[in-house]
Amino acid sequence: MPSPARLLHDQPIEQRIDALLALSHQHAKHFGSPGAWLARERYLAKHPTNILVMKCMDGRIHIPHATRTPLGIITPFRNLGGIFHLGWPYLGELVSEAVTSAAKRGSASLMMITYHFSRGERRRGCAGFQCDVEAAKAHAYRLAEQADALFGHERHHVYPLVCGFETDRDALILHGENDKTLDISTWIGHSRDDLAAALADVCPDMPADIRRDVLPLLEGNLAHVTALEGATRELDIEHREWVICIGRGFDFLHLPNTALIIGPYEPDLAKPIGTAAAIIEANMRSGRIPDDGFMLLASTPYHQNGVDRARAELKSHFLSDFAEGVITQQHPELAAKMHRHTAVVHWPTRELHTLSPRR
Ligand SMILES: [Zn+2]
Repeated sequence: MPSPARLLHDQPIEQRIDALLALSHQHAKHFGSPGAWLARERYLAKHPTNILVMKCMDGRIHIPHATRTPLGIITPFRNLGGIFHLGWPYLGELVSEAVTSAAKRGSASLMMITYHFSRGERRRGCAGFQCDVEAAKAHAYRLAEQADALFGHERHHVYPLVCGFETDRDALILHGENDKTLDISTWIGHSRDDLAAALADVCPDMPADIRRDVLPLLEGNLAHVTALEGATRELDIEHREWVICIGRGFDFLHLPNTALIIGPYEPDLAKPIGTAAAIIEANMRSGRIPDDGFMLLASTPYHQNGVDRARAELKSHFLSDFAEGVITQQHPELAAKMHRHTAVVHWPTRELHTLSPRR
């Protein structure tokens, strides 16, 4: 059966946009259901470690799905290639705020710093690093060093963990001390105790409470990888993205090869926007997607009505205008096919509210 993402690619742009917005409403409905709410509450009560994931904007990298973790537990940060610098003003603030508020609750933080690659085919790797897995890994290690500088080299309260994600099998590869690795795809058939022992061996300096809360991610990933064994998977070799997302709050959008998601973190935002536009233009030129249009979706999460929501609206409009300016300047032909959609997301319910165009 073709995946929803694949079905979508051939539709006219208006229908693709409607389907995408319907997906966001479905996501909010599920997120707000009693069962999903209880699952999150119970999970957090048992596993209070604050989990942050730094990852690529590539839609194949869906850590909650691949680790069978309820949605809303893991805080994702997404950017082109998973490229970040903790010195970036806004990013540094968000990360240290998340760490500080967890510490005040008595919880430690795990920072999963991910890179991705494909074992079967090099060109299914990360476009942000021209598919060079060693360069992507080196960047992840640099980010881990920045986390150490920020939160303490002893790693008692914040543990930066470099993780590979092998997209052919959706398997995590943990990089521990002394170049030791734990590749989940090689642990099929093993028990929870075996995994716990392997984790202790690979990351001996990981505090016990963080180790307790990493283990369910590894167990979930092992179950996911095991379930995929032997199944025919569409590996979605080619780029077919037709949406550029700018901002935050795109949890619902985890369809492979559909959207390029740019977090508002990099001081030189024009760079990832230009790269994303170039990818969409190439997709149209090669006929991988229809050339009748693409979507520019800007979103900002907010928690409360009043100033918080007003600022979110202002931010979304700014991001949308900024992206339009960059695309118009760098890719004028593509800009003529742009369908702008500007929104804010009520974070506690994940409801997406569309804003009317600003005069
Ligand atoms: Zn990537």
